[in-house]
Amino acid sequence: MSVFETLESEVRSYSRGWPVVFERAVGAHMYDESGKSYVDFFAGAGALNYGHNNPVLKQAVVDYILRDGVTHGLDMNTVAKRDFLESFRDIVLRPRDLDYKVMFPGPAGANAVEAALKLARKVTGRESVVNFTNAFHGMTLGALSVTGNSMKRGGAGIPLVHATPMPYDNYLDGRVPDFLWFERLLADSGSGLNEPSAVIVETVQGEGGINAARIEWIQGLADLCERHGMLLIVDDVQMGCGRTGPFFSFEAAGITPDIVCLSKSIGGFGLPLAVTLLKPELDVWEPGEHNGTFRGINPAFVAASEALRTYWTDDTLEKGTLAKGEQVERVLLGIAERYPGADLRAKGRGLARGLRFTDGATAGQVCRHAFERGLLMETSGPDGEVAKVMPPLTITDDELDEGLRILTDSVSATLS
Ligand SMILES: *Cc1c(COP(=O)(O)O)cnc(C)c1O
Repeated sequence: MSVFETLESEVRSYSRGWPVVFERAVGAHMYDESGKSYVDFFAGAGALNYGHNNPVLKQAVVDYILRDGVTHGLDMNTVAKRDFLESFRDIVLRPRDLDYKVMFPGPAGANAVEAALKLARKVTGRESVVNFTNAFHGMTLGALSVTGNSMKRGGAGIPLVHATPMPYDNYLDGRVPDFLWFERLLADSGSGLNEPSAVIVETVQGEGGINAARIEWIQGLADLCERHGMLLIVDDVQMGCGRTGPFFSFEAAGITPDIVCLSKSIGGFGLPLAVTLLKPELDVWEPGEHNGTFRGINPAFVAASEALRTYWTDDTLEKGTLAKGEQVERVLLGIAERYPGADLRAKGRGLARGLRFTDGATAGQVCRHAFERGLLMETSGPDGEVAKVMPPLTITDDELDEGLRILTDSVSATLS
C-alpha cells in the first residue's frame, strides 16, 4: 500500500477518482509519474483559469523569489501588495466603474465567505442570512451554514443555524414566478423568517451542478435585495476571474453587489489568495477585527498582478472564453441528441459547462472512462449527476478538441 493509503487521512477525495501520482503539469495537461498525459477539464476546480505553470506568471514568480522579494508578511505593506492593489484598481475596478474597498481575509475561498458573512451581520446588526438551494460556499462553519449539500453539512457536528435556503433559479422548473415565496416571506410578519442581513449567491453554481441562473433572475434578486434592505453578496470564488467570460460573473447582469468574494484563480498561478470586496460605506471593521497569518502571500500577489496585466487589459481572453464555451456547448448538445433515451442535458455558461445525466452512477462512470482515456473531469450536483467541463481558459483549440473527443468516446463507452 502507498503512503497515501497508510498515512494520509481517509478524508482525501480527488486522489481516489484519479488513483495515479501526478508529477508535472503544463497548460491544460497534467502528467503522471509514468509519463501518461491527461487533458485537464478540471483546472484545480477553477483555481487554474490561466493553466498550469503559465510561462508568463511562472517567470514573474521565479524572478520575484530569486531577488529575495518578501514571501510572507501578514498584512504588512509590501511592494508586491501595492502592485497588486494598484493593478486591481486600474485594470479591474476603474474600467468597470466599481467602487470597492479590498479586504484580504485569509488565503481560501471559505475565508472570503466568512469575512463577507461577518461583515454583513456587523453592518446590519441582523443575524439571519438567506442562501440558495444547492449552494456551495466552503467548508468552515459559517460558509457551511449557507451550503446546501447534506453530506458536507453533516460534517459540521453542530447545528448550522442563522441561514434560510430559498429556491435557486429554475429549482421549481419555472412553475412558480421568480421570488414569489421569498418575497411573500419577507412581506408577511407572520412568516417566521427573521429579517435577513444579506443574501449570498453564486451566479452559476459550480459544485451545485453547473446551474446557471438566468440574467433576469440575477437582476430580480439584486432588485429584491435593494427593496428589502438586504446586502447582496456574490460568491464569485469559482465563477469569477473570467470563468463565464467577463472578469466578474455578474457583469452580464449589470448589477453591483454590496460584497464580492474572490479566490481560486485570483492568485493566477494556483497560489492561495482571496479577497473580499466591499462597498466603501460597509467598511466598518475595527483594525484586526478579522485577522489571519496568511493574508499576504506575496508571490501570489506577484502572479495575480501579472495575470491581470497579461489577460485583462484587453478582451482577447474574454472573447476566447465565450467562443470556447460555445464550442463546448455545441459538442454537449450533440452528445445529448445522440442518446435521446438517456435524458442528457447540456448546462452552463462561458467555460463553466456540464453534462447532466439522470444519476450520479452514470456520470461517475463517464468520468472513470474519461480518466482511463486521459481526461480529468469531476462530477458535481447533489447526486454527482453532472459531469463538469471546466478547462483552463487558456486551453488551445487542439487541446479542447482532444478533450471533447475523449468525452464523447467516454459517454459512448458508458451508454452504448
Ligand atoms: C471553492 C469554493 C469556495 C471555497 O473555497 P476554498 O478555497 O475551498 O475554501 C467557496 N465558494 C465557491 C463558490 C467555491 O466554488
